[in-house]
Amino acid sequence: MPDVFADLVGQDEAVDTLRRAAASAAALLRASTVPAPDRPAGGDPGAGMTHAWIFTGPPGSGRSVAARAFAAALQCVHGTGCGECPGCHTTLTGTHADVRLVVPDGLSIGVNEMRALVLRAASTPSGGRWQIVIIEDADRLTEAAGNALLKAIEEPPPRTVFLLCAPSTHPDDISVTIRSRCRVVPLRQPSAAAVAAVLVRRDGIAPDVAEWAAAAAQGHVGRARRLARDPEARQRRDAVLAVPRRLTGVGAAFDAASALIEAAEAEAAASVTEIDETERSALQTALGAGGTGRGAAGAMRGAAGQLKDLEKRQKSRATRAQRDALDRALVDLAGFYRDALTMALRAPVAPVHTDTAALAGAGAQKWDAEGALRRLEAVLECRAAIEVNVKPRIAVEAMMLALWKG
Ligand SMILES: [Zn+2]
Repeated sequence: MPDVFADLVGQDEAVDTLRRAAASAAALLRASTVPAPDRPAGGDPGAGMTHAWIFTGPPGSGRSVAARAFAAALQCVHGTGCGECPGCHTTLTGTHADVRLVVPDGLSIGVNEMRALVLRAASTPSGGRWQIVIIEDADRLTEAAGNALLKAIEEPPPRTVFLLCAPSTHPDDISVTIRSRCRVVPLRQPSAAAVAAVLVRRDGIAPDVAEWAAAAAQGHVGRARRLARDPEARQRRDAVLAVPRRLTGVGAAFDAASALIEAAEAEAAASVTEIDETERSALQTALGAGGTGRGAAGAMRGAAGQLKDLEKRQKSRATRAQRDALDRALVDLAGFYRDALTMALRAPVAPVHTDTAALAGAGAQKWDAEGALRRLEAVLECRAAIEVNVKPRIAVEAMMLALWKG
């Protein structure tokens, strides 16, 4: 049985750091329960361990996988992250009583959520080891939520550990003051070969499919697995990569923009509709919808407020899902123009999209390196514009026109 770090693809340095930290955390726990004369000699308990960490790296590099694996190693009864004991197992399956995971549904993590979390994180760990809070997408903390978190990190309860995940430690992602209190674990974009190997080993995917998917996903492990397994994900990618061929005029550019936006909306709707309905009916059941007894009218007034809150959260999540879907499409498209650029420069690197390499080659001849670069930049500018809240349709239309004109 592989240990908890086995799924961290191509991150040997980070895994080393985390293993050492887990070992010294275990030594710390022993030191606090065993009287000093009986302690095994050697090693400074606590060196290498700290109470706040930031995992950084590009999307798909495994930030949250790393945070969860580290949490499991801290809760492991052997202190190693064996992958087999109840501590490891419950942490990885998300049922450990002392591990809390925050995954923002919407565009940001609000202050109320953070305050409640910080309060619970201050309690004594029921399993006797560590109280752990994992915050995925810590770059989506609102300023007020960031301040609430900072307070907790500045005066941490003795057994509480915060694990934050963010794209980078740039001040746009993580406030400088939070950053200064945390140890940073940088993850890199894993190589296509490393991603392919894990798809074969862990997911039993055929080697040729794994290689193709790993290259097409540009180092994003989860995306590579989806491409290898999900025919709909492959179809959506095919549709995106058909865009460069379809750009034959102004009208076609606007059509392509509409198609891209609508595809992202459809993909997002498919991913959130089911969970939205489950939440709604769970809340209605909890509120006793349809009750006729005394107090039912008052309960229904409160219920209306809660339903409204839920709808607000769901709307915010839907927006996020649409942006994520659109961003994936833009990354695929950027890969195509990157291929055209490297071919125009005759750079000795493998194409991202092997299945559209011929088309990228034709583009390279027609546009030359300069034209390919301008088009690649248009795609990247579109991503950046959406990131700073330009309306997606406007950004995508501008991009399609730039891709057509060159
Ligand atoms: Zn274990």
